[in-house]
Amino acid sequence: MLRSVAVVGAGATGTSAVVHLARCGVAQRIDVFEPGAIGHGDAFSSTDPALLCNTSADSMSLMADRPDDFVDYLHGLGFPVTPLDCVPRYLFAQYCRDRYLGVRSAASALGVHLQHHREKVVSVAGAGPGYTLRTGSGAEWPADAVMLCMGMDAWTPPVIRPFRSYSGVTPASALGPAAALPHDARVLVLGSRLSAVDAVITLGRSGARVQMASPSGTLPSVRTRMYPDSSASGSLTALAGHPWVETTDAGQAERFVAGLVRCLAGHGRPHLRDQLSLAHDPVERLRAEITIAEEGRNFWQELTVEFIALTNEWLLRQPPAVWQDFWVIVEDVLDRYISAMPVSNAKKLLSLADAGRLEVGRRRPTELTRTGDRWAMKWRDGSCDHFDAVVYATGYRPPSMRCSEGRLLLGEHRRGAPAALSADLRVDLGRDMDERVFAVGQCSATRVPLVHGVVAVVPQISRVVRELRALPARSCRGVGQSLPVFHP
Ligand SMILES: Cc1cc2nc3c(=O)[nH]c(=O)nc-3n(C[C@H](O)[C@H](O)[C@H](O)COP(=O)(O)OP(=O)(O)OC[C@H]3O[C@@H](n4cnc5c(N)ncnc54)[C@H](O)[C@@H]3O)c2cc1C
Repeated sequence: MLRSVAVVGAGATGTSAVVHLARCGVAQRIDVFEPGAIGHGDAFSSTDPALLCNTSADSMSLMADRPDDFVDYLHGLGFPVTPLDCVPRYLFAQYCRDRYLGVRSAASALGVHLQHHREKVVSVAGAGPGYTLRTGSGAEWPADAVMLCMGMDAWTPPVIRPFRSYSGVTPASALGPAAALPHDARVLVLGSRLSAVDAVITLGRSGARVQMASPSGTLPSVRTRMYPDSSASGSLTALAGHPWVETTDAGQAERFVAGLVRCLAGHGRPHLRDQLSLAHDPVERLRAEITIAEEGRNFWQELTVEFIALTNEWLLRQPPAVWQDFWVIVEDVLDRYISAMPVSNAKKLLSLADAGRLEVGRRRPTELTRTGDRWAMKWRDGSCDHFDAVVYATGYRPPSMRCSEGRLLLGEHRRGAPAALSADLRVDLGRDMDERVFAVGQCSATRVPLVHGVVAVVPQISRVVRELRALPARSCRGVGQSLPVFHP
């Protein structure tokens, strides 16, 4: 057993890491560094019951060996949910908190100390065989191993940056259920992915007229489930071992994707063209995809989870050049299916569009200006539109992790070089040793591209915790040897 493991960040990923560490008896002490509430992160902190998870409850267990844990938890609270339901997001945050408190009590009964430090970690320094974590207040904590679970950083486009502190310009994550807007306000939502969809749903309830704009002008596709409903015949797992799945040849990215896509339509499933809509107009495509989903013709959705797992495994074996090629294909073609929206959200969007309260367009913003109480957005095609408010949902970027002289720097730094991750997700601190610092969840996105959801992250965590469990305790500082050192 290790003496201490530090978990940095406790959104869904960090909470799952704590639960795995505590249940597997990996360390005598687990220090969790999270400035906010356990299990919230950007994704699950909303208390608005209208904001639903984008993934079904059967894909949201925090525990790799208990896939039904979230559904069982909800049943335990008396919610009559089915595994396919996309439940309000606050319930997932509540689940994270309750499982965290549960393992804390159980761990304490076994003499394992689990502590939540409400602080950000700013650096992790190699200290002999172990590590010293430094927090924003200057406190230092020792650890034998570290799991980095910092999620992604919200990205603000240059056109918005000068206005970040203005009241009429709001990030989607800060949009409350009762957005203070004039009656019939005209609102620009920048972005067209899942966070933008949430923003439109929230704004739609307050009676706003919304223009959604993004460079792709593409909405997420529509799904009703993430797993096959009965037998897994034709599942992608059956492909493991095929030469094009096992290949490490850099020229194989397209072949790999083509092979996977062929599987979506094989095995008695409809031709792919009957599972998808290629309508050019985003609202007509939405309408068609709702129909396809309601008629149960979108079989592609059943392979989403396997697709993510197989693709991540494949890419971990590939050199960076393949990674880049593949990412272009994923972003352009596949991401709207991997990150599809639940049909209930799709219908809310469609009814807003049909009521003339939502337009979706392909546009690139070039300049935002304030004119009195209103905002003028100039577009790349030279046109200009006026709005009462602007909401931006412009995506996320992996957090900055730079490495300098055996020290990992977290947050904005110019020093050092971007930290490299190995295939087993260890962070290279530039020392001549196998480090015990692992990046998991969305902060591993520079190495593992499809870590969008809990279902993709939990197996990663389980693997890393198994590795930690197998490690011999190296002689290093830890609980029982020295108490944390505080620096003013
Ligand atoms: C709006 C939205 C909706 C989503 N809906 C779903 C869904 O329905 N289903 C699903 O599976 N996935 C969903 N996701 C994806 C979701 O983000 C991930 O599945 C999941 O939350 C994992 O995120 P995370 O814990 O890695 O990161 P986050 O949730 O971002 O958590 C990271 C945490 O790390 C903390 N942190 C950051 N830096 C430091 C530091 N230096 N020191 C200490 N702490 C730090 C932050 O305070 C934060 O709490 C959604 C994402 C978004 C944005």
